Amino acid sequence: REVLRTQGRTAIVLVPEIALTSQTVDRFRGAFGNDVAVLHSGLSDGERFDAWQALRRGERRIAVGARSALFAPLERVGVVIVDEEHESSYKQSETPRYHAREAAIVRARAEGALVVLGSATPSLESWERADRGQAVRLTLPDRAAGAQLPPVQLVDMRSAVKEALASRAPQAPYDPLLRVFSPVLLAAIESRLTRGEQSLLLLNRRGFAAFVQCHGCGDVQVCPHCSISLTYHRVPESLVCHYCQHHADVPSSCARCGHATLQRRGLGTQQVEKLVAERFPEARIARMDVDTTSGKWAHTQILDRVGRQEVDILLGTQMIAKGLDFPNVTLVGVVDADTGLNLPDFRASERTFQLLSQVAGRAGRGPKGGEVIVQTRMPQAHAVTHALTHDFVGFVHEELGARRHPAYPPFVHLANVMVSGVHQGATAAAATAAAEWVTQLMRRQGLRDLVLVGPAPCPIDRIKDRWRWHFLLKSSQPRLMTRVARYVAERCPVPADSGLRLVVDRDPVSLL
Ligand SMILES: [Zn+2]
Ligand SMILES: [Zn+2]
Repeated sequence: REVLRTQGRTAIVLVPEIALTSQTVDRFRGAFGNDVAVLHSGLSDGERFDAWQALRRGERRIAVGARSALFAPLERVGVVIVDEEHESSYKQSETPRYHAREAAIVRARAEGALVVLGSATPSLESWERADRGQAVRLTLPDRAAGAQLPPVQLVDMRSAVKEALASRAPQAPYDPLLRVFSPVLLAAIESRLTRGEQSLLLLNRRGFAAFVQCHGCGDVQVCPHCSISLTYHRVPESLVCHYCQHHADVPSSCARCGHATLQRRGLGTQQVEKLVAERFPEARIARMDVDTTSGKWAHTQILDRVGRQEVDILLGTQMIAKGLDFPNVTLVGVVDADTGLNLPDFRASERTFQLLSQVAGRAGRGPKGGEVIVQTRMPQAHAVTHALTHDFVGFVHEELGARRHPAYPPFVHLANVMVSGVHQGATAAAATAAAEWVTQLMRRQGLRDLVLVGPAPCPIDRIKDRWRWHFLLKSSQPRLMTRVARYVAERCPVPADSGLRLVVDRDPVSLL
């Protein structure tokens, strides 16, 4: 970056989400002062206009921001840096569905600039690119300030819960804490409180309980607009759909069988907060998830309190895994490592590995060192075993093996063709017809290096009252994929009734 200054060129720095990476942004400001223009969604239109003008006129030469900062009006760009390049927030989920990492490579090529992709857990796409010689891999083996990676301890919750329940006093009342926290993790939190050090607890699911189920017939409360169970929230008490924000009152009895008892199943951050507060009444606890950070500066306020050591235990979703640097945090506890592992998505293992590695990296950043405790019911999963030993290369080898047959990225390029509509039958028929149309196209054009998989209902087959079907296109040739994806998006005929829509998503980050 210093070289750039002597060359008189400019730079673009992309970060995943400004609110979660304020420490990174501060570091850039500290190093480059008035050369930096920060672009983020919290800017008013006027502020944004001023920042863009300053960049356009060359008054500021480094644009730092999320995804869209890639389009900053800079001239003579010398370097594009993509920090935490594996982050899925670089993918825009609405049209235009570009992936900022891929777009960065395109812009840099056009300007003759260098691209630096930074990550402690690179995406398999970028790793493979280096394997093929299309990128140079630079390794930083040492942690900042020479700190050691913290030791990670695994707790198999299947046996831990059994033992904890067996060793209870005979008349002891039922204690839900025992099913959620192993004695090891409880003791570790306790010792941090005694020593005045801080703990981070990760649970990647917000709300109080994952779903509400009838004790009598097993019926689960689902969203009336989406094929997904409603999440139970305690404050304020309601059932919430995390896909469409539908809110419903908690029913007092089952609508199907009339049974009066509804069970709350599965764990959310609100429940963990309550359990921890009951067990450690003297502890100062803060929760960080989508529900507590909707205000403009809510993130910063919570993190500032952690920085001032006004919080003993910070618990939250994946938000707390990213880039935080607090030297007094000496314990990271992963309450349930398995929440993301069983999703029907080929990146489920990769995401879990990244999340575990990142949150583990939050412990022991200061001279006091630190430790990580991971609770799981799937201790053999390769995402878990390799995260324990900080073994990225080992994980990549196993995961790449799993992506060869059937082929998934990085071995093929992917396009997800999604057909949605308000009627189930019409949507299925349109998806089938579209897949047939593409199959004919492939046959006519002799496109041998193109595979069509499907069509089938999406794993979540209805969102916001729209039924969803999809099929996948796979090809090892990126240019062919670009051509076909564009052709299908523009030409594939879709009946003009039942609100039918066809969307082609190139390089999808999620197949749900
Ligand atoms: Zn029932
Ligand atoms: Zn919904």
